[in-house]
Amino acid sequence: MSALSPVLQQATPVLAVRGEGVHLYDESGRAYLDFTAGIGVTSTGHCHPRVVAAAREQTGKLIHGQYTTVMHQPLRTLSERLGEVLPSGLDSLFFVNSGSEAVEAAMRLAKQATGRPNIVAFHGGFHGRTMAAASMTTSATKFRSGYGPLMPGVALAPFPDPFHYARYGMDEETVTRFALSELDRVLATVTAPRDTAAFIVEPVLGEGGYVPANTAFLRGLRERADRHGILLIIDEVQTGFGRTGRFWGHDHFAGDPDIIVTAKGLASGFPLSAIAAPRELMAKAWPGSQGGTYGGNAVACAAALATLDVIQEEKLVRNAAERGAQLFAGLREVAAARPVGGQGGIGDVRGLGLMAGTEFVTADGEPDGATASRVHAAAAERGLLLLTCGTQGQVVRMIPPLVITADQVDEGLALWKESV
Ligand code: PLP
Repeated sequence: MSALSPVLQQATPVLAVRGEGVHLYDESGRAYLDFTAGIGVTSTGHCHPRVVAAAREQTGKLIHGQYTTVMHQPLRTLSERLGEVLPSGLDSLFFVNSGSEAVEAAMRLAKQATGRPNIVAFHGGFHGRTMAAASMTTSATKFRSGYGPLMPGVALAPFPDPFHYARYGMDEETVTRFALSELDRVLATVTAPRDTAAFIVEPVLGEGGYVPANTAFLRGLRERADRHGILLIIDEVQTGFGRTGRFWGHDHFAGDPDIIVTAKGLASGFPLSAIAAPRELMAKAWPGSQGGTYGGNAVACAAALATLDVIQEEKLVRNAAERGAQLFAGLREVAAARPVGGQGGIGDVRGLGLMAGTEFVTADGEPDGATASRVHAAAAERGLLLLTCGTQGQVVRMIPPLVITADQVDEGLALWKESV
């Protein structure tokens, strides 16, 4: 009988056997500088000793206590502790396992609470791969093709993306005004406010190419949400827990959500996600309609508690801001030497904190996925693990653990310079 192998679409040939801090190690003991952090998950670094100890201890006490049957200690304590970092007013939490599940929980809550059927999502957004989450996802066609029909009732409006709208002569202010006026048009012609339960938006488009939103845009969403009784869901799955140099991505833009969706950095690699909303809103979820067998797993909650301790005690949010500034300075220096029109032209460097993207463009200024892919492979060969994103995979992104040091950022930048 031939050996079975898992179904993989693996971006690098690396077989990781161990992780520590910002490094992964393969079977031969070769170290890789991991600027992917498991797609923004292991923010405290691989196998942070505090997280390992907390998970180990919890495993010996209680692994699973299903929350529709019994409350368990780590879940209760985590809920209390998250109150320290959530915006005031979002005083009720619900836990599941993945970003997509949490997105769906937020969507279900919004529809049940308002009695309205439709959602407005934004072009370039990524909210997950489960059916409803994929229906709200447009960052690349591969995420929503070949298995339709998708969930009905999703309307799309533009996300203000200054780099891509620059070709139409628009600056950030103009593109934001355009995006909001298009949203008004969508509410007038596609989904009437009385049929619209929620807007769902990322503070920084993640899979869509590391495009930050801006204050005028998020204020515009809030104002329209208030005017029409629509809920504002902010998807912080990739941007939460200090990733952008503030605790929440929307903190940069005075976002003011009705519902926050969080996952990834929440538990340092254990599967855990949550939605947070005001108690009165959460109470409108139909009993029994939310949840899942493994949601709020006790070991994952214990790991999340240790994660919060590490983020606070090691001042990782500040580190993300400072190391992010260092990373962006280095990336912009490299970009300046690779102008559009030449070999491996770089059109834009953008992101926030330790979410940094470099967009490659052809001589004509079109997205250049082929060069991004070549650079990604060249970096992996040199021991620097990266990711790509964007509609055509034309953006190479860096999302390292938040524990990264100044020397490690410099090391990564040196490998980057050799790879582009
Ligand atoms: N929302 C955002 C903003 C994400 O970046 C992701 C994953 O990358 C998701 C939702 C889906 O999360 P998961 O892959 O855990 O289902």
